[in-house]
Amino acid sequence: MSFKEHDVGVILQNVIMLLEAQATLNNIQFHVQVNSCLPLVKCSEIEIKQVFINIIKNAIEAMPSGGIISIVTVVQANYIYIRFKDQGEGIPETLIHRLGEPFFTTKEKGTGLGLMMCYKIIGDHKGKLAVNSIVGEGTTFEIKLPLW
Ligand code: ADP
Ligand code: MG
Repeated sequence: MSFKEHDVGVILQNVIMLLEAQATLNNIQFHVQVNSCLPLVKCSEIEIKQVFINIIKNAIEAMPSGGIISIVTVVQANYIYIRFKDQGEGIPETLIHRLGEPFFTTKEKGTGLGLMMCYKIIGDHKGKLAVNSIVGEGTTFEIKLPLW
């Protein structure tokens, strides 16, 4: 896999554009605070794109009656943090440790492979993927990637 220097904010904006129509159809709005000209990250663009798509699609699917998905980037020390916060059903504490398991899904037509792939890709980039969720309030996925 070839890693090149990318502005992940640009990748993120492209993914948001790609998913905008699907979000609108589901009464979902994106609130985006992504800095322009972020410090560059050495990464595989196609893989990072896949991670963003998966996390945002899960957020859309978690809000069947609509809501807001906030997307924020923060640069701190030698890392960039990308946070995706939804207002969906949330994930019970008893299930949260199972999210990266292959085939773990609570959806009728889910594959349960999306997050497993996200954990693997972020791990391959020497980053971290963290989840925080409150049932009935929503879920936040946070990606931490090292700056090079
Ligand atoms: P799939 O989307 O095919 O079910 P994933 O690996 O993407 O597979 O997600 C696994 C499970 O994690 C989902 O079935 C769902 O239960 C839970 N999940 C993931 N993201 C969210 C979210 N934003 N809100 C609530 N639950 C979520
Ligand atoms: Mg999924």
